[in-house]
Order: sequence, then structure tokens, then C-alpha cells
Amino acid sequence: MPVEIHPGPLPDRRVCPQCKQSAFFIFDPVDEKRIYKFSVALSGKVLFESPTDERDCPSVTPGTEIHCATCPWFGVMADLFQPAPRVP
Ligand SMILES: [Zn+2]
Repeated sequence: MPVEIHPGPLPDRRVCPQCKQSAFFIFDPVDEKRIYKFSVALSGKVLFESPTDERDCPSVTPGTEIHCATCPWFGVMADLFQPAPRVP
């Protein structure tokens, strides 16, 4: 399925719970030295940085471990769809 890649920052992306940036990556389960960068649309659609990656990449599910590209945060895909954590 083709993916439209838009240049520049976009407001319609899921963001990191920690740093609020929208760039994430996952490790290739076969070759751990390889990573795939992507952002996540508000709809939940995964938008890979490179169209080639989408073809090669394993599917990203709610349980897939993902890493933030700009801070040390990591978690699972489903974390991006949680409401902001309550501050006590
Ligand atoms: Zn982050």
C-alpha cells in the first residue's frame, strides 16, 4: 500500500508520551542492527520514512515495541493511544 510522505512537521501525528515528538523507530526482528523510522497518523496508520521500508518491514501491531527517535522513551504501539498519564 503506497504511503504519502509529507515534508516537515505535521500536527496530525501521534506523539511520544515523554517528549511530544512524532518520530519513532522499531528494530528489525531479524537484523537488530537495522531500524525502521516512522511516524503514526492520528488514525493509527504507520507512515514509514522510506517507502521501501514499508515493503520490507514487519507489521506494526498494538503490541509492537517501539522507540522514540528523539528521547530515551520506549514502549508499545498501544501506548501512543493512551490518554496522557494523570499527574498526582
Ligand atoms: Zn520521546
